Amino acid sequence: MIHCKSLASALLLPIAWFCAQDAPVGYSDTPHLPGGEWRVHDIARPVPPVVTPGATPSAAPSDAVVLFDGSGLEQWSAGNGSAARWKLDDGAMEVNGSGSIQTREAFGDCQVHLEWATPAEVKGDSQGRGNSGLFLMGRYEIQVLDSFENRTYADGQAAALYGQRPPLVNACRPPGVWQTYDVVFRAPRFADGELVSPARATVFHNGVLVQDAEPLIGATTHRAVAKYAPHADEGPISLQDHGNPVRYRNIWVRRL
Ligand code: MG
Repeated sequence: MIHCKSLASALLLPIAWFCAQDAPVGYSDTPHLPGGEWRVHDIARPVPPVVTPGATPSAAPSDAVVLFDGSGLEQWSAGNGSAARWKLDDGAMEVNGSGSIQTREAFGDCQVHLEWATPAEVKGDSQGRGNSGLFLMGRYEIQVLDSFENRTYADGQAAALYGQRPPLVNACRPPGVWQTYDVVFRAPRFADGELVSPARATVFHNGVLVQDAEPLIGATTHRAVAKYAPHADEGPISLQDHGNPVRYRNIWVRRL
């Protein structure tokens, strides 16, 4: 097949003029896709909105809610509505024993990016070493832990759906080094007080797939089998104070 640009060059024609009307932008005579609403290549199918990506994969795209950019904790509260009191230092916020914090806004289905680092000075072991956590809807924990050469139970290591599902691999960086989580979270659905579909989490840890649309079996718990209790369609994102000075930076979320 001859590409229009090649043909335009051969004929010494301006490429823009020659190609302007060359490529169809859709069809109205093609068969319908399964489900019936749209045809294959349907000309009438709405195109997705334009989003300007961040300058790097870690930077917030144009449609994100920025939860923390290093400048302040305005988007976070201590849970009882009072201001979050984690330590702000050098563009990061650090767990300081003042308790877990949560977003003032609530989210359901969402994409979350956050960066975390466990203390460079290693103290403790197993669950006592660099423990924190990302809680979706305030209930479903993706574990944050120093899992770099630190033995603990598999369903409690970094990037585990805590107490439920170990990560597919251990992609942890050394203590003190910044790490990334990129999460796609699907909220559970309830109807008439019954679970219709479970929550699901896809997680990339430092760019490595570690949870693949994994269903959760309920709200995070300790030494017990998780179970669901009906709740609102949206809930706050919270970060756990587990007594270890874990740091966070560059946190943003997109509603899905
Ligand atoms: Mg934790």
